[in-house]
Amino acid sequence: MDPMAFDDLVLALQGRIDRAIRRLRVGAAPERGPRRRLLVVQIDGLARAVLEQALAERRMPFLGRLLHRQGWRLTPTSVGLPTSTPAFQMGVFYGVQPDIPGFHYHDKRRGADIYFPRAGDAAHVETTQASGRRGILLGGSAYACVFTGGAVNNLFSFAVLKRPTGRGLLPVVSAFVVVAWVVVKCITMTALELSRAVLRLIADPVAEAARGWKWLALKLGLSVWVREFFTLAASRDLYAGAPAVYVNYLDYDVVAHAFGPRHRHALQTLRHLDRSIQQLWRVLRRVPGYRYEMYVLSDHGQAKCRPFQTISGGQPLERVFFEEFFRPAGLVEVGPAAPHGRRLAAGIKALRSHRAAGITQRFINYLEHDFPRLMGELPQSKQHGGVRVIGAGPNAFVYFLDHPDPLTIEDIDERFPGLADEIGRRRGIGFVLARSPGGPICLWRGKRYGFDGGAIGPFAGRSDWTLVAAGIRDLMAMRCAGDLVIYGHDSPDGNVSYVAETGAHAGPSPEEMQCFLLCPPGIMLPEPITHPTQLYPQFVAYQDD
Ligand SMILES: [Zn+2]
Repeated sequence: MDPMAFDDLVLALQGRIDRAIRRLRVGAAPERGPRRRLLVVQIDGLARAVLEQALAERRMPFLGRLLHRQGWRLTPTSVGLPTSTPAFQMGVFYGVQPDIPGFHYHDKRRGADIYFPRAGDAAHVETTQASGRRGILLGGSAYACVFTGGAVNNLFSFAVLKRPTGRGLLPVVSAFVVVAWVVVKCITMTALELSRAVLRLIADPVAEAARGWKWLALKLGLSVWVREFFTLAASRDLYAGAPAVYVNYLDYDVVAHAFGPRHRHALQTLRHLDRSIQQLWRVLRRVPGYRYEMYVLSDHGQAKCRPFQTISGGQPLERVFFEEFFRPAGLVEVGPAAPHGRRLAAGIKALRSHRAAGITQRFINYLEHDFPRLMGELPQSKQHGGVRVIGAGPNAFVYFLDHPDPLTIEDIDERFPGLADEIGRRRGIGFVLARSPGGPICLWRGKRYGFDGGAIGPFAGRSDWTLVAAGIRDLMAMRCAGDLVIYGHDSPDGNVSYVAETGAHAGPSPEEMQCFLLCPPGIMLPEPITHPTQLYPQFVAYQDD
């Protein structure tokens, strides 16, 4: 039997409850005007090249059908730097050039780290950088996004759940039907996956042990529970005529971090995603009066890499940095994350004090970026003698804290002669970026290069060199980017990440920068799309419609 039939049954039941609620004059029915509505499906972390491979191997048959038979177009996009979800979504949701150099960085003026999964940090960035701007999701819904974009429903509106009085109570009951169904469905799918794992274990115990429980946990947690929940919750929004819905599917990105961007586990998630996209598309076909237009896009790709620890005898970059370059007497460790207990307590406090709209998102963000760390290691930055080092992914930031603004390479050379070049020559380091009065410079294998001429140093031969150079100029113009920005790309040991992962992003490799946007025929797009801010006018126009 078609499992989607059950989903439809549940949604029909839920729709009926919604209608009953409206008859009780609890809320007005959404108007079915000529207004166009927006649905964006983000496949987090999927490079264009990997999408093309998946299409060629028929791993995404539904998207293939849209492209080959329904006249959909695949538009290549380039997403700027850093290749990271917060920077991308700040650009798309608000149209502002972000000051977000990575997933974890330091703000010298504030004297604090920004670490997106931590309570309050995403909200702080959103209020300071997007204040006064109109978000693309006003009155709509955002699932697993870093920022709200003005959405009233962020994953599952805590504002409604917390004060279930009068008007709020009935929608909660209605939503509960969907949630209850997702739970039933996911328990069934979990049981199926578990019994399959047991069967495989009996058939081939050695191979199955190698697959590991980590994979099974990922698959069940994200690929089943979260994806199902998002798909049904978004379907409910679409039936209800929400003005804008943005769903970010994380499965692929998380699995690619753990196993690598072209690993079969990562590619397998795409088949499930394809089915979820098909499910959303079917809902749209049932409510043509709402005039939804659907976009499928990715925010960045991933580069295959190896963890820095594998070439440093198990030492993280932050420790190596101080031991080799500074040899301090006593290393001061300053973690952005409080110990588990305190963090949980802070989370609960945030929930109580009405700042909780994004708490589930923060959990998702945490999963998104930090699955390796969930397995035991907490992110840490190290500070000693007024120098702070943060490993954020395939990128790391070095901050000299004696000055509140970014330093130039001349300033750094004066403070620590030879340091910058020495870092650039170390094993496990690809290249180092710094600022100079004439613009950013790149330190690579003992030489210093500017970005004014043709493709240089580690970027020689790049056909998209102008985009790379523009991305690096943008990145080094960000106030909060480190005084030195280290990348692990193309080191003599291959691509290296400074957190424990085998797929990484934030850097300028073609796999990370070159993405895609799929849309139905008849939609006009800016061309070429070389920065996420170009999508803002496209999407915010639905608010005016
Ligand atoms: Zn990621």
